[in-house]
Amino acid sequence: MSSKLVLPPHVLIFPLPAQGHINSMLDLAQLLCLSHFHVTFIVSEFDHQRLLKAAAFAGYPGFRFQTIPDHDHPRAGDRRMDVFASAVKFMGSCFKKMMLEKDVFASSERRAVTCVIADGMFGFAADFAEETGIPLIYFRTISACAFWVYFCADRLIQANEMPFQGNGRDELVKSVPGMEGFLRCRDLPSFCRVDDTNDRLLREISNLTKQSTVRANAVVMNTFEDLEQPVLSNISKHMPRLYTIGPGKMHLKSRLNVDASIPCTSLWAEDRNCIDWLNAQEPKSVIYVSFGSITTVTREQLLEFWHGLVNSQQKFLWVMRPDSITGGGDCGRVPVELDKGTKENGYMVEWAPQEEVLNHPAVGGFLTHSGWNSTLESIVAGVPMICWPYFGDQMINSRFVSEVWKIGLDIKDTCDRVVIENAVRELMEVRNDEFLERANRLAKMAKMATSEGGSSHCNLNGLVEYISSLVI
Ligand code: UDP
Repeated sequence: MSSKLVLPPHVLIFPLPAQGHINSMLDLAQLLCLSHFHVTFIVSEFDHQRLLKAAAFAGYPGFRFQTIPDHDHPRAGDRRMDVFASAVKFMGSCFKKMMLEKDVFASSERRAVTCVIADGMFGFAADFAEETGIPLIYFRTISACAFWVYFCADRLIQANEMPFQGNGRDELVKSVPGMEGFLRCRDLPSFCRVDDTNDRLLREISNLTKQSTVRANAVVMNTFEDLEQPVLSNISKHMPRLYTIGPGKMHLKSRLNVDASIPCTSLWAEDRNCIDWLNAQEPKSVIYVSFGSITTVTREQLLEFWHGLVNSQQKFLWVMRPDSITGGGDCGRVPVELDKGTKENGYMVEWAPQEEVLNHPAVGGFLTHSGWNSTLESIVAGVPMICWPYFGDQMINSRFVSEVWKIGLDIKDTCDRVVIENAVRELMEVRNDEFLERANRLAKMAKMATSEGGSSHCNLNGLVEYISSLVI
């Protein structure tokens, strides 16, 4: 018998080079390694150096990185989807070059790649799968609710509900099945805010979403059934092989049987001094403020947030990345009252161990940009949110937080110190019990989904079986 026959499946995983995409796809990589798969994980040289410092992967003999050259990736301030589009184009050319090798990444210990799991943003992966016959699975790093809205783009255009301009933003949208009662124009993804139905990005994103259904063998999502069931039922009518395996990090902990935070996959150095500061605070007294890895704010917006937080008189821990200000530079002279208010009640870091922060007993709320990873991490930790979405899917996530799951407030399209102060008070004091109760219920559901017998646990077993069945 050839030794090849006993070698495990070999999965190539390829994320978009952005923190949120890398985090969730690394969780999946580790989950597959726990099933004794071989995994080759593609990252840029820049990200590779940073991830090696985190050294999270030494424990998985089946895991290895494969690097590709650096490019101008989506980084801070890239709300413009064309930057993402150009990164995707570059990734596509690197991917093609790599995959031209005959026995892709094979060695005496590894089969050639038996299955590609590509970021849902990578349309080129479907072309490649069709040309070579190597099975393709798409990983969508966004929520199912956002995915479903993207999927319905054609219906929205036909019904003249998209694109839309400034007026009528509070009107309800009727063409997204299941969301008729609460989805407003202003909750549609940011790329809908254009004049022209032929807008290139609008078309591209809508086409990409549909590709997931017809051109890939299967789709994986970082969510769980109890959280997004009605939406998932709609999606699975179009996509029979859909695996929801999230929340990824919680799932990984459950399989590893550990309670503590698992090794970090941050591209930036985490400032752990904030944990000492949190240790000195009262339970549930701190609002954590972070807008993820890409969002930037203008100096004016930053000052509105700052005044709002200081005026609320709540304790706050704020991640202010060095590249937080739109167009670069720093925030300039800090008004005396903000300096004083921050010394009394605040703590600032450039990058935090977010998961650990959210699970810290002192944290009682999260002011977030509603990135999907941050939203899920907050749900897992049972922490209510104030949502200030920046772009893309975040517009929809924030609506679900406030209107469907009812675990927080959505303040999109406003950035005013009074609104922020009131929202902080409402979240942390006035309606705190109500939000906390629901948030804790969802956190329990997430735990159940990722425990033995839970939906995500069973779905991952199904995915492992399916990938194994693809090995000839
Ligand atoms: N994150 C972190 N420390 C920080 C800020 C963010 O570790 O100080 C992590 C966070 O836990 C999440 C990711 O960065 O996993 C951000 O992903 P998300 O999808 O929320 O937003 P994006 O950065 O893609 O806009």
